[in-house]
Amino acid sequence: MYRNLKVVPRVVFGRGCFDQLDAVLEPQRKGSGIMVFVLDDFFEGKALEKRIPLRKGDLLLRVNVDKEPKTTGIDALTEQVKNFCGKDVMPDGVIGIGGGSILDTAKAVSLMLTNPGASHEYQGWDLIKYPGVYHVGIPTLAGTGAEVSRTAVLTGPVRKLGLNSDHTVYDQVVLDPDLLNGVKESIPEQWFWTGMDCYIHNVEALCGTFVNEYARAFGEQSQVLCREVFLDHHPESDEKLMMASYFGGMSIAYSQVGACHALSYGLSYVLGLHHGIANSIVFDYLDDFYPEGVKEFRAMAEKNKIKIPRNLTADLSEEQMQKMIDVSMGMVPLWENCLGKEWQEKMPKERMRQLFEKM
Ligand code: NAD
Ligand code: ZN
Repeated sequence: MYRNLKVVPRVVFGRGCFDQLDAVLEPQRKGSGIMVFVLDDFFEGKALEKRIPLRKGDLLLRVNVDKEPKTTGIDALTEQVKNFCGKDVMPDGVIGIGGGSILDTAKAVSLMLTNPGASHEYQGWDLIKYPGVYHVGIPTLAGTGAEVSRTAVLTGPVRKLGLNSDHTVYDQVVLDPDLLNGVKESIPEQWFWTGMDCYIHNVEALCGTFVNEYARAFGEQSQVLCREVFLDHHPESDEKLMMASYFGGMSIAYSQVGACHALSYGLSYVLGLHHGIANSIVFDYLDDFYPEGVKEFRAMAEKNKIKIPRNLTADLSEEQMQKMIDVSMGMVPLWENCLGKEWQEKMPKERMRQLFEKM
């Protein structure tokens, strides 16, 4: 069976297009009229916050993402929205403005407004029963592909796993490269980690056994753009990175990530590391899996004067090491994509342990 992909139906792209947001939302204000803006609290008091087209009766939620989104946090935000709107009243839209963490938060709140129970009950594949509230994604960091993906990654009581469903996909995205302006200068490491999430997605997809021409077409173009950004420092890098992320997400939709993401999930689960940085830490040790990709990744790190953290696993207890291995072993489709059906013969626990010990 081939996947029947759901893609984002509406996209605005271009510098300054954020200012069209009010006009984009206008036709959607057809019920309660309420719009809920979910904003990364980094922007509190900053120019971008003042440009949000808040109308009377709208709700602005400033959300902190020092820690990546949790199911408990999503449930609390959903309650807050319900209380604000009143009994039996729904907002007409939920708009996420931020990096991958906020994009996932807004998706999840939109879904939890219309689906009963707690968000952790929906961690998995196609468990969401009802379409969410109309939702719009506006990235302020580029690389995760969360603006186009069918998942909202959440840490729950048992595991970190997405709300994967067709309903998760945004109804609208607003891609304004201006919102990336200055990110490279102000938070160069974060800019790099998030960008490398995209680069690594592409390497894993393109080298994987699941890849087809659909995924390859998007993945290869995304790599071209990543090189222009991270090796050539192209003057239009904000535009290019925005599109690299979008294309990377489109590619993954019809392929899968691989060894780096499988190991990085284990590493971040135990060490509490963020997704982007964990991927970069792991990828640096995967020469045997992705020789060309790792070489180019190191060139990108050097060119941008980024130091990859080292010696993180030296003091782990045996129990923690076991947990790391177990979480990574559980990522079956990722290993299958990387190494084929017989992946367990090629990736025994001992080999995984040796890799983690190097980190
Ligand atoms: P992020 O959203 O976690 O943000 C990282 C930091 O950058 C935060 O401190 C944030 O406040 C700050 N920030 C955001 N925009 C900024 C700006 N313009 N200027 C200055 N600071 C800014 O980072 P991310 O790497 O974009 O997202 C990581 C998250 O995405 C993880 O939770 C991961 O699980 C998730 N993810 C989701 C998908 C998906 O398909 N849904 C894919 C990959 C990763
Ligand atoms: Zn990723």
